[in-house]
Amino acid sequence: MTSASTNDIEFRSVSKSYGAVTAVSDINLQVPKGAFVALLGPSGCGKTTCLRMIGGFEQPTSGDVLINGQPMNGVPAYRRPVNMVFQQYALFPHFDVEQNVSYGLRQARPRINATEISRRANDALEMVRLGGFGKRRIHEMSGGQQQRVALARALVNKPSVLLLDEPLAALDKKLRTAMQIELQTLQRELGITFVLVTHDQEEALSMSDLVCVMNAGRIVQLAAPREVYDHPSDLFVADFVGKTNRIAATVEGDGSTVRLADGSKLLIPGKGDLRSGSATLALRPEAITLHRQNGSATGKLSGVVTHRIFLGSSAEYSVAVDGLGDFLVTADRRDLSDGELVEPSERVVLNFDPGAVHIFPA
Ligand code: ATP
Repeated sequence: MTSASTNDIEFRSVSKSYGAVTAVSDINLQVPKGAFVALLGPSGCGKTTCLRMIGGFEQPTSGDVLINGQPMNGVPAYRRPVNMVFQQYALFPHFDVEQNVSYGLRQARPRINATEISRRANDALEMVRLGGFGKRRIHEMSGGQQQRVALARALVNKPSVLLLDEPLAALDKKLRTAMQIELQTLQRELGITFVLVTHDQEEALSMSDLVCVMNAGRIVQLAAPREVYDHPSDLFVADFVGKTNRIAATVEGDGSTVRLADGSKLLIPGKGDLRSGSATLALRPEAITLHRQNGSATGKLSGVVTHRIFLGSSAEYSVAVDGLGDFLVTADRRDLSDGELVEPSERVVLNFDPGAVHIFPA
């Protein structure tokens, strides 16, 4: 028994199959106490299955899930120190807000007295800034408020881990952003571990301390948001988290030189350990600067703007680069000498710091 574990959740070689389908494959994971971790990945990669195994709604086919150092094998959901908030909040429409929040407490055995139940339900409503709303009917609450009722219901029995399965997916973008901030603030205030399932990379990057990127039943990277974005572990992560230009290249000689398909060479600093051979370079659209091609502008690459998406403070350009194909470039207006947007069909030159290039061997 290791109840003094500093990890709230641990997966030891956990796999889960449904018949012939392997949903989760040999996952090892440690989530420190009080962390906000996001499970991020495309549809079907196994995020929800992991969450459900923590919650006790699914059992691993092999391996162990531990909560607070205790193996959870055979421990039913209602005996685990966790609670779950679902995408469909599943509130009872015929109960008022307080009755919804206190539902679990009213089922508890041994019984809890009515005054205590009401006090705890109202404390939970205060936590989600819904104090005073206890007697409202569910249909009198907005979408965002219903989401907070669902949160209060999950917090009322003071779980040590809160599991959130795409909890904001039903909200419109503005409300979702507001709720993201609220959830993050709430997590900091309560200091309990949050595990969030999402396929929205912005949500994962903006809310969590740790992003666990999954693909095809496996963890491909587990790191702080900035690390995942700046140093993706492979091309899948580079593509899935943020946008990436993929450039076919050949690593030459001692590994610090790469040759692009148009014959040009790039000297890449600090990459001397790369094996020579074919590789794919990954370059973020915002790591590239764009200049109008006039007398003075020189650049690593040149091409023609084929499309522009105006985003207000910035613009996203598609550029057909000579000999290399399409590139995506995000340019801040301030970066252009005259502050004017570049027009489609204009010729441009592109520059980037070779240090911003990630190289993945083929
Ligand atoms: P989404 O973002 O679409 O919810 P996910 O990453 O949460 O996806 P899971 O729901 O964990 O993915 O599913 C992982 C794989 O396991 C999928 O191939 C899915 O079809 C399969 N799967 C999940 N639950 C079951 C089940 N009860 N029976 C059979 N297959 C299942």
